[in-house]
Amino acid sequence: MSIVLGCIADDYTGASDLANTLTKAGLRTVQTIGIPPAGLVLSDVDAVVVALKSRSIPAADAVAQSRAAGAWLTAQGAGHLLFKICSTFDSTDAGNIGPVMDALRADAHAGVVLVTPAFPETGRTVYFGTLFVGSVLLNESPLKDHPLNPMHDANLVRVLGRQSETKIGLVDLKSVAAGPEAIRGRLRDLAAQGVGAAVIDAVFDSDLQAIGTAALDGSLSVGASGLGLGLARALRAAGHGAVAGSAPAVGLSVSGGIAAIAGSCSAATLEQIDRAESFMPVLRLSPDALITAPDATLADALDWAKSYLANGPVLIATSGTPDEVSGVQARFGRIASGVAIEQASARLAADLVAAGVRRLIIAGGETSGACVDRLGIRAFAVGPEIAAGVPLLRTAGHAPAMLLALKSGNFGGPDFFAKALDAMT
Ligand code: ADP
Repeated sequence: MSIVLGCIADDYTGASDLANTLTKAGLRTVQTIGIPPAGLVLSDVDAVVVALKSRSIPAADAVAQSRAAGAWLTAQGAGHLLFKICSTFDSTDAGNIGPVMDALRADAHAGVVLVTPAFPETGRTVYFGTLFVGSVLLNESPLKDHPLNPMHDANLVRVLGRQSETKIGLVDLKSVAAGPEAIRGRLRDLAAQGVGAAVIDAVFDSDLQAIGTAALDGSLSVGASGLGLGLARALRAAGHGAVAGSAPAVGLSVSGGIAAIAGSCSAATLEQIDRAESFMPVLRLSPDALITAPDATLADALDWAKSYLANGPVLIATSGTPDEVSGVQARFGRIASGVAIEQASARLAADLVAAGVRRLIIAGGETSGACVDRLGIRAFAVGPEIAAGVPLLRTAGHAPAMLLALKSGNFGGPDFFAKALDAMT
């Protein structure tokens, strides 16, 4: 059986968010880090999300990486490709959404491509092509000050028009509310006018399935997790996906040591570490020692962990308060200290796995990325949700098999570590 939905995500966290959304909607989903090595078995999988880091790189590189991912997904049998972008349409006039869309559209010989970052459940709605973040226009939201992609225009027909070579149209809410047939009719009119891509409105959750149903007629669509949800619902309605309530892509039972590594310095993670101290051994590493004497510091940390691992989980944290972080950054440099601490966390992850850990919880987006890269993991089957946006993951095509929970800093409630441990045992 081949996959029905292939997704190309322009960043890692967005990829996980989409994979989580697809899984919750009933599609058995695998997430890969870039194009996985040959030999990854994709049996009993409905959707694959290839995670790229292409949102803010030069457009030509984003195009090349996305085309390669699209070709790989198509070779796995994907009948429809979703180019997953941010729900706030993060991009500049130089790209990368327009150039990637144009290239994928040419490769897929697609007709009018539907484009929407809408995800009403999370406050992203599009009306007459205009993107609202909660109750404010995109260009009046905090996104106007984004360090990499400041968004100064909420009219996505215009925004995409500046990035794309193709003519951009609009499918308005009236057509969406009237259902898939009305959307199809509007798309035929737009095609006759030479339009190559159309921003499509969505204000209510129920709009997403109508959009997903119409989008599946074509070979490519562009959007955020909301469109992913619409496509997943449409695919489920068409009979794809696991039997409701059945297990996700790969069985989740894995035995072996359990450890957590925290590198996030977010308020949420700091509180979660404090809470964890009441039910598991916690080691707080000195960032200065990690940077100036990594070998000895990591060796001591590993010895400490080994003394507990046979009896239960451990948590090792580099995380510090904002004042502590400022001090470290002043002494060692902002980027240099961040990279050094991430790399130390990644070495620790590898040492823990060598010591028998098979279930690993990691707090921090960059920290997770560094650990996953260091462990050489290239694909995950996506399991049940531990906390909003944080699914339980099982490695696919990787020895030894492992369970992971990768948490971006601010995600999860105060009891996140307890919930993650529960999900893994
Ligand atoms: P988040 O998801 O909260 O942004 P990340 O892992 O992405 O977490 O980023 C946290 C960054 O802070 C990483 O680069 C990590 O190496 C760094 N870091 C971790 N602990 C400390 C510390 N005590 N002082 C300074 N930087 C730290």
